Amino acid sequence: MSNESQELGITESKSHKPGDWYAEVVQKANLADYAPMGGFIVTKPRGYALWEAIQDALDGWFKETGVDNVYFPLFIPESFLEREKDIVEGFDPEVAWVTHGGHDELEERLAVRPTSESIIAPFMADWTRSHRDLPLRLNQWCSVVRWEATETKPFFRTKEFMWQEGHTAHATDEGAWDEVWTRLGQYERVYEDVLAIPVLRGKKPEHDKFPGADTTTTVEALMPDGKSVQGGTSHNLGQSFAEAFDITFVDEDENEQTAYTTSWGLSWRALGALIMTHSDDQGLVLPPTIAPTQVAIVPIWQEETKDDVLEYSENIADELEDAGFRVELDDRDERNPGFKFNEHELNGVPLRLEIGPYEVEDEEVTLVHRPDNEESVADRDGIVETVDEHLDEIFDKLYDTAEENLENNIREAHSPEDILGTLGKHGGYVKTPWCGDEACEEAIKEKIAAEIVMQPLEDEGGTTAGEVPEPDHDECGVCGDPADEIAYFAKSY
Ligand SMILES: [Zn+2]
Repeated sequence: MSNESQELGITESKSHKPGDWYAEVVQKANLADYAPMGGFIVTKPRGYALWEAIQDALDGWFKETGVDNVYFPLFIPESFLEREKDIVEGFDPEVAWVTHGGHDELEERLAVRPTSESIIAPFMADWTRSHRDLPLRLNQWCSVVRWEATETKPFFRTKEFMWQEGHTAHATDEGAWDEVWTRLGQYERVYEDVLAIPVLRGKKPEHDKFPGADTTTTVEALMPDGKSVQGGTSHNLGQSFAEAFDITFVDEDENEQTAYTTSWGLSWRALGALIMTHSDDQGLVLPPTIAPTQVAIVPIWQEETKDDVLEYSENIADELEDAGFRVELDDRDERNPGFKFNEHELNGVPLRLEIGPYEVEDEEVTLVHRPDNEESVADRDGIVETVDEHLDEIFDKLYDTAEENLENNIREAHSPEDILGTLGKHGGYVKTPWCGDEACEEAIKEKIAAEIVMQPLEDEGGTTAGEVPEPDHDECGVCGDPADEIAYFAKSY
């Protein structure tokens, strides 16, 4: 083995050391690097392309459903943050402050935005005069900073992270709920249809909702290591923000009314979930929906067959490109086919076409699936349809594996011992009746680093918070008191 092929290999094991393995995949697949400051990363072209693919999908759906993009300043005056005390209390320890401009101390400190409610809301108040101005739907793609002192984990834990934050105002409670479900549905769709990751939809328990929110809804994805990822959140803020920031409007009867607002966000943590869910000990695995290169064509030639093999390969590459596939013809002279196979595996190219003199002679192609190395031979004729089918199959393989992991890892428990034992042994979600008291979550959290990540909703899409369905058992799985809610405990990222 040359040094180069050793460099290509992943040395850590996903099942034994998921944290180290994850860090190695991110670096070796050239997605991101560590910045000189702890807690920050440099997103490399291959990593940023994945974020752009998520952006493209979501941004298109947002615009189809009435959202306009805006951009607000990176800095927020302290007095603005203080107007909504709930936000300040919620984020205070994590806020980074600018105190100087050049050599001069600022009269008022500026917060580096931890989220932008407090600077966007006053403008929404300004722009909302009449019921005809509503609904007002704004979104911005930006980064935010939360100064958490934890170990850097690219895309999962960084002080600065990329996201989108949507902020909307509505004339009615129904309008706000409708918005909350629309965005949660779009988050679910981006996970399931683009990232090939099934999710659970639910709400956060009262004590864990966004500061100032009425209800926080969430999509949660289960990682193969048994931990849950909060995939995106959509908050119904009720009228609390509108009251704090004076977002009022004159209704049809000339009466002044307070608006209802929502906010919703999805961050590049989705990339973390993507990498963690599908990749393996050979490197990155990507669903064809998001892979920057969907098909790698690797010609295999000897000197005397080179011209024929290359011509045949180029012809196929052209046909596939014309059909709209993202194709790379890997005709590098200085690399042998084995090296190329490894590299495309490491980079997560979903489908590889191998073309040697035999394929040329028989007018065939050999196709290899990245996730499981399944190999097959197909006719050169109809290559576009064949590749299309294979890419669909690859997507389904990835989705089905993730779905199986999710379905097999929701377990019920009805006592603290059972909850702790199940979480300790299997990870995943533990579903239990809950009395609603935060102390019961604390009791579990103290013993094992797991919390209530989600409560399922009964009445999704309705105009109420969607009641949490009644549990079969009526005793809290932790304290034994009467319980009329269901909670999902899990360790989480
Ligand atoms: Zn309890």
